[in-house]
Amino acid sequence: MSKKIILDKESAEFTKKIIELSGEIVTLCEQCGTCSGGCPMCDKAETSPSLMMRMAALGQKEILGSDIIWYCASCYTCTVRCPRGIDISKVAEALRQIILRDSVNRIDLSKLTPAELEKLPQIALVAALRKMTG
Ligand code: SF4
Ligand code: SF4
Repeated sequence: MSKKIILDKESAEFTKKIIELSGEIVTLCEQCGTCSGGCPMCDKAETSPSLMMRMAALGQKEILGSDIIWYCASCYTCTVRCPRGIDISKVAEALRQIILRDSVNRIDLSKLTPAELEKLPQIALVAALRKMTG
């Protein structure tokens, strides 16, 4: 009989965010390890895809500091092999998105001078504003 795991509010919110962004129900992962077994990046990264999935399901924010989310090459080997039909590369993508959305803004528009604002290409301003959507 499987044991029910109850997450604290913060962890549950984090898992919910990953599910929303990836569209994948990370809690379906049964930790079979198949994704890690076939991952071409596994020997390069310190964290395996299956550990990434476990931490995502448990809402452990430490996963944001893992290298696998950046090493993942979206090759879909894990995705086609996962017995639970989870697209693991989408989970890695969601975790990258969380980091990119939460990162410190490199351009603080309120601190730019009118001369700088005039010089900046419009696309740079749009990109800067998009990074504040986290
Ligand atoms: S292959 Fe699927 S079910 Fe197995 S550990 Fe990876 S994500 Fe979980
Ligand atoms: S999609 Fe990413 S995690 Fe999955 S096997 Fe390929 S590199 Fe590894």
